[in-house]
Amino acid sequence: MSEPLDPGPIRDLVADLGDIEHSVDDRVLRAKSRDRFAQSPLLREVMRGRLADVYIVPATKDELRTVVASCARHRIPITVRGGGTGQFGQGVPLTGGAVIDVTGITGVVGQRLGTVRALCGTLIADIDAEIRPTGWELRMHPSTTRKATIGGYLAGGHAGIGSCQWGILRDRGNITALEVMTVEEEPRLIELTGDDVNIVHHAYGANGIITEVELPTAPAWDWQELVISFPAFAGAARFAVDVCESEGVLKKVVSPQQHPLPTLYPDLAQLIPAGESMVLMLAAAQSMPNVEDLVADNGGVIRHRGAEGAGPYRLPLYEYTWGHSMMHFQRTNRNLIGLLALYPKTGLYESIMRVCEEFANLGPTHIEMKRIDGGLAAQGSPVWDFTGQEQLAAITARLQELGLTIANTHTPTLRAGGMKPWARAEAEFKRRVDPYGLLAQGKSDDQTDNDVTRATELPNSGWSYRLTGAEQNEEVLR
Ligand SMILES: Cc1cc2nc3c(=O)[nH]c(=O)nc-3n(C[C@H](O)[C@H](O)[C@H](O)COP(=O)(O)OP(=O)(O)OC[C@H]3O[C@@H](n4cnc5c(N)ncnc54)[C@H](O)[C@@H]3O)c2cc1C
Repeated sequence: MSEPLDPGPIRDLVADLGDIEHSVDDRVLRAKSRDRFAQSPLLREVMRGRLADVYIVPATKDELRTVVASCARHRIPITVRGGGTGQFGQGVPLTGGAVIDVTGITGVVGQRLGTVRALCGTLIADIDAEIRPTGWELRMHPSTTRKATIGGYLAGGHAGIGSCQWGILRDRGNITALEVMTVEEEPRLIELTGDDVNIVHHAYGANGIITEVELPTAPAWDWQELVISFPAFAGAARFAVDVCESEGVLKKVVSPQQHPLPTLYPDLAQLIPAGESMVLMLAAAQSMPNVEDLVADNGGVIRHRGAEGAGPYRLPLYEYTWGHSMMHFQRTNRNLIGLLALYPKTGLYESIMRVCEEFANLGPTHIEMKRIDGGLAAQGSPVWDFTGQEQLAAITARLQELGLTIANTHTPTLRAGGMKPWARAEAEFKRRVDPYGLLAQGKSDDQTDNDVTRATELPNSGWSYRLTGAEQNEEVLR
């Protein structure tokens, strides 16, 4: 439970808002103080009763500046909200205060050859819809592209559809620039480029409010949705590795899913023969002859091929991959969970099969292929019936022994999560942009000595990234 804040400063903040849309209605506060953390059985308990005191919806960057200035003056904690699709509780106001919803601050503000710039609250799918007529699209998007904002994706997400070709957001070159607003009595705008964008990326809004983003674009190919069956999961995994290692084959998602997972998607199940595994894939039309050859080489059969978003199932195919898969699985059994485990680049196929075989009695494997730090890896894990934190910790520990690196997706704090290095650059930048420590309280490493961190910690190693020059220097200093 968050302690109620002194109502005085909140009243003063509300008085400053004038015509800016806001609410202190209980139902609104309850709805807007949540994200999709209920996917985690641990977070369902830990996040209960943590509510904002006021919900504010600025319609422009100028209105946002007014709100932020007032929060700074009255020392009100701030949680920024985009589409609210974060899964780790990172959008929950752990210490109350203001939830500032930026979904009104929208629009593409510029497009150059190879990049696009947009305001933070723009839905990711809207950016693609606007630039596709020019023959370009974003390099990658989360499976929530139709609901998530671009600012929320860069602050809370990490990869997605496109990552099997381009790598993850953190990989150098995948975020061109970020503009952040400081939290001061007179908020300033700071532009970050180069390696500096990663100071703010995936920091859950703890070290700056992202107001604009500039991202690289890629050619918008004629993407084909493919549902491919394989009699055995080994064929699915082999195909997935082969097609991703064929760098000339253009693809956007490659998701091997072991039997019986196909049966947990009522929309897709009828396409896959009983007892078989599948790969869901988006491939460019011109790459189809190569894809067909690789499918045949690995004993698979293409059960459906069609234009993006026009399959005989209800949703775009990518909404049966990445974070969406667990959402579908939990509709059958709310206790099903998985881990964000990263299979190693070296011996990738062997590693996938070793884990699959060792955990055969626990549950079937679900993974997405992705490039990271210049090599091919895969992300996912077996999917199993959660019985408690001890079981989760034991599985985490064993997967690490098998060479996987694990992020904890059952915590809203950066330290316990382990996906984001929080080094001196992050801490210093936070002091610069958020001198009163009002942003995303309780989530950054400077502030995680709290009950939430303790209740959600697992023996996870965190992800290994190739460190930037500055981070390497710091490692040496430690
Ligand atoms: C079904 C499902 C599938 C998903 N699939 C993927 C996937 O494929 N890839 C992936 O990377 N993630 C995925 N996610 C999680 C992912 O974080 C979100 O989908 C999305 O990127 C978040 O955008 P949002 O606008 O909803 O942000 P929110 O959930 O509103 O916010 C996310 C975090 O960023 C902060 N934030 C929001 N806006 C700003 C801003 N302008 N400035 C500073 N901080 C801000 C919030 O405080 C919060 O900490 C999935 C989640 C779900 C529920």
